[in-house]
Amino acid sequence: MISNQSIAEGMTIKLDNVLPEYPEFIEGLRRAPKREFTLTQKQTETALKNALRYVPEELHDVLAPEFMEELMEHGRIYGYRFRPEGNIAGKPLEEYKGITEAKGVQVMIDNNLDFEISLYPYELVTYGETGRVCQNWMQYRLIKKYLEVMTQDQTLVVMSGHPLGLFRSSPEAPRVLITNGLMIGMYDNPEDWNKAAAMGVSNYGQMTAGGWMYIGPQGIVHGTFNTVINAGRLKYGIKNDEDLAGFLFVTSGLGGMSGAQGKAVKIANGVGIIAEVDESRIVTRHDQGWVDSYTDSPEKAFAEAKEYMEKGEGRAIAFHGNVVDLLQYAVDKNETIHLLSDQTSCHVPYDGGYCPQGMTFEERTEMLNNDKPQFVERVNQTLKKHYELVKILTGKGSYFFDYGNAFMKAVYDAGQPEICKNGFDESEGFIWPSYVEDIMGPMLFDYGYGPFRWVCLSGKPEDLRATDAAAMSCIDPNRRPQDRDNWVWVRDAEKNQLVVGTQARILYQDALGRMNIALKFNELVRKGEIGPVMLGRDHHDTGGTDSPFRETSNIYDGSNVTSEMATQCFAGNAARGMTMVALHNGGGVGISKSINGGFGMVLDGSERVDRILRRSVPWDTMVGVSRRNWARNEHAIETSIEYNQIYDGTDHITIPYVANENLVGDLVNDAFKKYGLKK
Ligand code: NAD
Repeated sequence: MISNQSIAEGMTIKLDNVLPEYPEFIEGLRRAPKREFTLTQKQTETALKNALRYVPEELHDVLAPEFMEELMEHGRIYGYRFRPEGNIAGKPLEEYKGITEAKGVQVMIDNNLDFEISLYPYELVTYGETGRVCQNWMQYRLIKKYLEVMTQDQTLVVMSGHPLGLFRSSPEAPRVLITNGLMIGMYDNPEDWNKAAAMGVSNYGQMTAGGWMYIGPQGIVHGTFNTVINAGRLKYGIKNDEDLAGFLFVTSGLGGMSGAQGKAVKIANGVGIIAEVDESRIVTRHDQGWVDSYTDSPEKAFAEAKEYMEKGEGRAIAFHGNVVDLLQYAVDKNETIHLLSDQTSCHVPYDGGYCPQGMTFEERTEMLNNDKPQFVERVNQTLKKHYELVKILTGKGSYFFDYGNAFMKAVYDAGQPEICKNGFDESEGFIWPSYVEDIMGPMLFDYGYGPFRWVCLSGKPEDLRATDAAAMSCIDPNRRPQDRDNWVWVRDAEKNQLVVGTQARILYQDALGRMNIALKFNELVRKGEIGPVMLGRDHHDTGGTDSPFRETSNIYDGSNVTSEMATQCFAGNAARGMTMVALHNGGGVGISKSINGGFGMVLDGSERVDRILRRSVPWDTMVGVSRRNWARNEHAIETSIEYNQIYDGTDHITIPYVANENLVGDLVNDAFKKYGLKK
């Protein structure tokens, strides 16, 4: 067997042979609950060896027992000792070491772990209950070391948080390639994945957590704003230049992404009541000014809502308690709710994402840690009750949409097949629409509008102001209603105080809008008017994600069960030289339910970056539009025809011929009759 000394000598980039001081942890700061531990004794040995392989053997005597205890107490080995002391935050670019792109990547990693932003910062969870930057603090340190020394001729490969190494490439290739949670088909299920995670070989990247492009709750505010305002337009006839004044949106969750709901409904000038069981998250949002008031009385919440609806003013009201109690009150008291949704972490209901009724948040954590079977039972009971209440409220006229948190799938898994369209399984979808089916898909994604974003890496608010103005100058508000919404959004962005963490902006844009803005920013960097910018997007986009219950839920040609679009998007972005390219399993809906990817692109002002932007940014979106077009989505067909005209001679999309419904219907009907097949 090769000696550990030879191994240490065989590496020049490695963790130091020094035991770090055990860092102090702030009492009361959010901590992840114990994760499910189902490893056999042999697998536990492997898990321990896996964690120890990051550190020199001299340190094993101290670290092995510590790691063992972490695994038993927390269900994972986080390597807490390797966490740097204090808060970690995205600092200005020049405070990092390395080439510009690598420094930009470090800003993003640290921003994802900021106490202000991260859900469970000590456990490297950025958002979504389990979405992590990487698996442990040894990986964090090692990734940093690689980034500090990498050149423009190298690519860092990161597999589920593990930095595999630096490999030669070129300045027009990605600097970092990231994959998270990808499993072989037969093991692609939560149980096997959970074992792999406990063994330290698989990370849940969620979307921008493991893709290192999270920008705090702002990232989701624009999408949430688009969703609620368009829900109002769709169901209540609100005109394009009107807002949600006088309308009530009731929902739940004030966590990572869900925390955007109050802010978004208020920007749309509507009233929101948002249920949240964890008081600390309410306090965070209240301190940020993202909710205006909070109460633990449903009566007071509805009374305040009415007052603001009558005044026609926006208001975000948090209800401290279980969403099921809030809805029960609404049913009992016959309260009118216009828009109804839910944003608890139902993609992981049994891992703490959904709190059962009749217990506090602390009691939920206690039961989750100590009596998992009972916890599962209580979650299932609550989900079924939740379903019954939504059914009553929609019966009275509320418009309910699933908010991409797999709520309806969770209700089905809890044992309520009634929620399925066909009454027995999820193969034909669920009885209520997802927000993508009704709103995001046809009104935004099919045109290519999606959550484009950027971070001013200098950390300077004046850079953000300059980019806001530059972006605004690229949008023609008279082209489509969506453009008008986006133009107003960026005009008011600073006033709406959306920044948490780094100086970032979210702005929905279509393919060419994104490219034009990107080129404009790069020009500003070139002229020295602003510092470097990290460009990116949420994975939750037109082309980045295959997820049949969410992003691709408005794809009806049967291909919503495939994951080739997200994979092609990833490969295409890598081939075209985006700085950082990521591909993940799971995302916001859970392991095996989606494949999703994203990118980060550092704008350094160079001609090289202009070239990469021109070929990669349109691709990143148009892969989705062209696939949606092929699924016969009308707006995507229109957008693809227009694209073929604009890019005549360079790009070309295949457009589908549309068959006559009657011709197909009659033929299939006759054939089924003739061959005695059941409908
Ligand atoms: P999160 O875990 O940070 O927040 C969820 C919040 O719900 C937590 O604060 C939790 O305390 C609260 N909660 C849980 N059960 C509750 C209950 N019964 N009553 C009241 N509050 C309860 O997760 P997140 O990042 O906010 O994401 C939430 C979900 O939304 C995820 O499943 C995510 O995938 C999904 N999602 C959101 C969007 C979006 O556009 N906002 C898009 C896609 C998916």
